[in-house]
Amino acid sequence: MYRASENRYKNMPYRRCGKSGLMLPAISLGLWHNFGNVDIFSQFREIIFSAFDQGITHFDLANNYGPPPGSAEENFGMILKDDLRRYRDEMVISTKAGYGMWPGPYGDWGSRKYLISSLDQSLKRMNLDYVDIFYSHRPDPNTPIEETMTALDHIVRQGKALYVGLSNYSAEQTKEASKVLRELGTPCLIHQPKYSMFERWSENGLLDVLEEDGIGAIAFSPLAQGLLTNKYLKGIPDGSRAAKAHGFLQKDTITEEVINKVKALNDIAEERGQSLAQMAISWLLKDDRVTSVLVGASSVKQLSQNIESVNCLDFGKDELAKIENILK
Ligand code: NDP
Repeated sequence: MYRASENRYKNMPYRRCGKSGLMLPAISLGLWHNFGNVDIFSQFREIIFSAFDQGITHFDLANNYGPPPGSAEENFGMILKDDLRRYRDEMVISTKAGYGMWPGPYGDWGSRKYLISSLDQSLKRMNLDYVDIFYSHRPDPNTPIEETMTALDHIVRQGKALYVGLSNYSAEQTKEASKVLRELGTPCLIHQPKYSMFERWSENGLLDVLEEDGIGAIAFSPLAQGLLTNKYLKGIPDGSRAAKAHGFLQKDTITEEVINKVKALNDIAEERGQSLAQMAISWLLKDDRVTSVLVGASSVKQLSQNIESVNCLDFGKDELAKIENILK
C-alpha cells in the first residue's frame, strides 16, 4: 500500500495560476506518452508515486491519451482507486476533449454534444466524480465559440469540473473565449500552449493576453518531446520516443541543424551546472507568467532530474544572450 512521503511539500515551489485562488506546482506531470496500455504498469505507477512524493500535485490527462486512446485515463484511475484515493484533495487532475475520440460526427472538435459526453466518459474511466480542470483541447473553427464556452460553463455548474481551461487557442481566440467565459461567470483558469526553447509562438501575444486576463499558463512539451535533453546527441537510442512506432516525435525532425543547436545549448547547461533538460525547464520558469511546466517522463530518474531544475532558476544576461544567439 502506497504511503506518500511526509517531505512531499518541502522542495517544490507552488505558483498562483493567473489571478485565481489555485496554486500549481512549478512542475506538473503529463500522461500523454508512457502511461498507456502499451507501457509497463508497474513502471508508470512508480513514476506517479515519485511525482507525488516530490510535490507534484498536478496530473494532466486527456480523453485520447494512451495508446489506445482512453487507456492513460483508465490506468491513472486504477492507481487512484488503489493507492491515491486518500490524497484526492491534495491533487489537481485535468482532462481535455477536442481531438478525435470516437467515430461519427459527435466524437471530435468543440460541440456541446462532444464535450459533455467526452467528460462523462473520462470521469468513468478515471473513477472520479469531478476533475479539477477541464479543457477545450483545441479551438473548433466550425462551432461558435459561445457554444464551446457555454458547454464548459455548464460542466462547472454541474460540478463535473472545478475550473476550465483552453489549449492551443491563438492569442485572439483566447481573448474572445475568455470574454465569453467571464460573462458566463466561469473565468478561464489556465491556457496550455506548446512552449519550449524550440517553440515560442506563445511569446507573440498569447502570454500578454493571459497576463491581461489573469489566466495562468502551463507549458506543454517543454523539452520538445525529449529533443531538449542530451538523449539524441549520439543518434536515436532504443526505447526513446523517436524510436517507438507510437511515439509522436518523428525521426526526421532530428536533423543535423537541430542537433548542433542542442549541442551548443548542452554546453551552456554544463557551464551552469545543470543538465540540458533542467536548463530548458528553468528557462521557461524564469517568466512569472508561466505558472507551471508540464513535463513528460518515461522513468523516475528523468522525472527526479527534471524536478531539480526548480533549484536553479536564475539566468545571467550573458547566458540569456548566448541562448538567444543559438536559438535565432
Ligand atoms: P516533454 O517535452 O517533457 O517530453 C517528455 C519526454 O522527454 C519523455 O517522455 C522522455 O522521452 C524525455 N525526457 C524527459 N525528461 C528527460 C530527461 N531528464 N532526460 C532525457 N530525456 C528526458 O513533454 P511531452 O511532449 O511528453 O508533453 C508533456 C505533457 O504535455 C503531456 O504529457 C501532456 O500532458 C501535455 N501535452 C498537451 C498537448 C496539448 O495539445 N494540450 C499536446 C502534447 C502534450 P523518452 O520517452 O524518449 O524517454
